Amino acid sequence: MSARIIDGVALGKVIRQEVAAEAAALKARGITPGLAVVLVGENPASKAYVGSKEKACLEAGMHSVKVTRPAEITEAELLAIVDQLNTDPTIHGILVQLPLPKHINTERVLLRINPAKDVDGFHPVNVGKLVIGDPTALKPCTPWGVIQMLTRNGIDTKGAHAVVIGRSTIVGKPMANLLIQQGPGGDATVTVCHSRTKDLPAVVRSADIVIAAIGKAEFVTADMVRDGAVVIDVGINRVDDASLPKGYKLVGDVAYAEVAAKASAITPVPGGVGPMTIAMLLANTLQAVKQSS
Ligand code: NAD
Repeated sequence: MSARIIDGVALGKVIRQEVAAEAAALKARGITPGLAVVLVGENPASKAYVGSKEKACLEAGMHSVKVTRPAEITEAELLAIVDQLNTDPTIHGILVQLPLPKHINTERVLLRINPAKDVDGFHPVNVGKLVIGDPTALKPCTPWGVIQMLTRNGIDTKGAHAVVIGRSTIVGKPMANLLIQQGPGGDATVTVCHSRTKDLPAVVRSADIVIAAIGKAEFVTADMVRDGAVVIDVGINRVDDASLPKGYKLVGDVAYAEVAAKASAITPVPGGVGPMTIAMLLANTLQAVKQSS
């Protein structure tokens, strides 16, 4: 079998266009959706992510605010910025780019964000709402993007055995929680594998849908995947490649070529889950606006 490629660039664009159309309709009613992104320090990857988020926000016709502060900012100063954004009526979504410098308590900062503006979906109120199936939950962008990739590509999760590899708060756990919800994109039978799982390859081989979010280059090999499985690769890993000008290339958590030969559908890296994350951030901002008005 040769896998169908699930194109995250194309789907991300469709979702961004849908968001832009809804944002234009809201604007006509005098409401401009606003997203604030807070960047602390000089981490190059974080700077690049924040730049892409700002650009996508402006392209969708939204109001974008970027707050940048040096790594030496105190926790109290950062909390004061969050407080100010929490009460700013022009801001509907707040995102504090992680990781934060070590002297700042990340949990405390995330807890301070008004859950109604928590477009990353990391506040315990939104985590709890997701678990109980409350539709007003703001859902973490990456796993929510994966659900869109499945449903909008006609991949039925109902009754399917979905194996999620990785149990992080950002990807693995919310991914599993989304897949067990009732309704489209849910109703799956879910197994979560992690670093302590016994005979992980055997568990993954029993999956109709494999979702890899481990952070280990090409960890999932063809022998772990059964014929016709759907494979979603969340991983983004840099591996050295002296033949390239940058000296590295990006690969996922899945050994793409060999697994694509066995799977029925697969996401590439880059161009798969990555572009969906920013699209869902915009969609979440829109959801936050609609729930606030
Ligand atoms: P994380 O490091 O927080 O979590 C990794 C998880 O993998 C852990 O739960 C751990 O138990 C599990 N794990 C590690 N080694 C394992 C092993 N040998 N066997 C089984 N399980 C193992 O990472 P994360 O934040 O969840 O990110 C995972 C990957 O997804 C990374 O490559 C990251 O860059 C990528 N990511 C991509 C996007 C995107 O937009 N595409 C967003 C977030 C994360």
